[in-house]
Amino acid sequence: MATLLFLILSLTLLLSCSASFDLPLCLSTGISNHDCNALAKADLQGTLSFIGNQIDQVSTDFGGIIHQKPKLLFTPKSTKDVCTMILEVGSSHNLTLAPRGNGHSTGGQAQALNGVVMNMSNLKGFTIGAEESYVDAGAGELWVDLLRFTLNHELAPSSWTDYLDLTIGGTLSNAGISGQTFRFGPQIKNVLELEVVTGLGERLICNQEMNRDLFNGVLGGLGQFGVITKARILLQRAPHRVRYIRVVYAKVEDFVRDQVRLVSLPKGHTFDYIEGFILANENTIDGWKSVPFSSNQTFNSTLIPQESGPILYCLELGFNYFNYTSNPTLEQSIEELMRGLGYIRGLEFVIDLSYFDFLYRVHAAEVAQRSSGSWLRPHAWLNLFLPQKSIMQFDTHVFRTMLNNGVGGPVLVYPVNSTMWDPEMSAVFPEEEEIFYAISVLRSLDADQPITVLESQMKENSEIINICRRLDLKCKKYLGRFESTEEWKEHFGSNKWELFTKRKSVYDPKHILTPGQSIFMRN
Ligand code: FAD
Repeated sequence: MATLLFLILSLTLLLSCSASFDLPLCLSTGISNHDCNALAKADLQGTLSFIGNQIDQVSTDFGGIIHQKPKLLFTPKSTKDVCTMILEVGSSHNLTLAPRGNGHSTGGQAQALNGVVMNMSNLKGFTIGAEESYVDAGAGELWVDLLRFTLNHELAPSSWTDYLDLTIGGTLSNAGISGQTFRFGPQIKNVLELEVVTGLGERLICNQEMNRDLFNGVLGGLGQFGVITKARILLQRAPHRVRYIRVVYAKVEDFVRDQVRLVSLPKGHTFDYIEGFILANENTIDGWKSVPFSSNQTFNSTLIPQESGPILYCLELGFNYFNYTSNPTLEQSIEELMRGLGYIRGLEFVIDLSYFDFLYRVHAAEVAQRSSGSWLRPHAWLNLFLPQKSIMQFDTHVFRTMLNNGVGGPVLVYPVNSTMWDPEMSAVFPEEEEIFYAISVLRSLDADQPITVLESQMKENSEIINICRRLDLKCKKYLGRFESTEEWKEHFGSNKWELFTKRKSVYDPKHILTPGQSIFMRN
């Protein structure tokens, strides 16, 4: 009889709780009785975790500067799970929810203090669409896996980030930029359709015709209006190989002139990838050594003009091609393009890579930094968009003075075309000029550098922002975070801010989504 009673009790419990729900553990986190009971009854297929080290892992990010503990980590199995959890969070007293891609933010943007972190890694899957013109991808997929999948069909997206171990949902919530952005726009401009679960728990398909406002809001929307669960991404025929070239300049005027000219030339008459970086004019790892592709290429420093300043400029170019037989004029086309450039003759470096190896090139740096111990140390990164007219002043007041000794990592400098961005989308960019510059100060710390170095790096970042303000350079932060509403308002500009807050009131009126961006607070 006692056994039968026990069986009936167990069965009742099993039916009323989701599979692995541990009610006492939930209560021990400080989540209210009401919310724990609601979670216990919720029809969730994914996994819930309150366990210390799993919680610890999502209380930090690549930046390693902000650490905010959630109460719960949820890994949904399906879009339905995402809807259910958002509804639960919405009806709770004060929980918030942050979707987490691969945690490669640098300022706590995917964290949720005392809330729920939703690990997107199980929202997977790829399907090639009609006439091989697009791929439908789960938002938790990494871009590198998307590349592997589409290359099997000899296809690939056109617009990339430099580093590919980022999730589709994560970069689409920002913009997603790289050396192809001048031509194809950011990744958010290469999306045909999204499946989104709003802050009201409603699953919606959106594109430029259907639910257009949500579509434009979510793209670059910093996770504020909904959780992206699927994205339809444009494809092109994948090139086979890339001729990857670096050339060095002594004068910023020559470097900028060539970059701007190259990104302004029509398609088919210029390179397919255009970036650049600054380097210290000395024989260090942040200097001359950062240019050659391999140890058998030598940097002949005697070619650098005597009168050169403390920094040099490296233009990075990529020329995509199919196989040699279909490109009889390959060498000639590249030679013609190179002939017009004003770099220091003799300081050119060339390597030929498969399309995959070219796009996945930053992975090698990750492997090296993991083994040296610097990958997991904090990263005080600063990413800015700067109108073209401000680049010379930025060079004088920042590159040549503050950053001339290197920052322990690359400082990227490259132009993109603002006409390839959509002002209706949430992403913020300088709209007043046809070309703006993307600048990334990608600082790192060696394994044994004291944490005081991080503090001075962060101070230097603030000084750079102050210089931009003082000189009215009209910089916009990319991937950045602000502490006050006033600063966010200034970042968006009054029109865009009005639209952004209006969208928030429509799609996430309770302000439950993505609190780590520090834009809106749940009441
Ligand atoms: P997370 O950091 O986990 O999330 C980013 C933000 O998006 C968070 O606010 C999160 O809550 C939200 N979010 C995540 N998934 C979803 C979803 N499915 N729906 C709605 N919101 C969501 N960026 C570039 O543009 N170009 C680069 O070349 C580039 N290179 C990088 C190299 C490295 C080594 C690193 C660490 C970052 C780089 N980034 C680059 C920045 C990158 O785009 C951002 O860090 C971005 O956050 C993506 O990382 P993630 O997928 O890990 O997302």
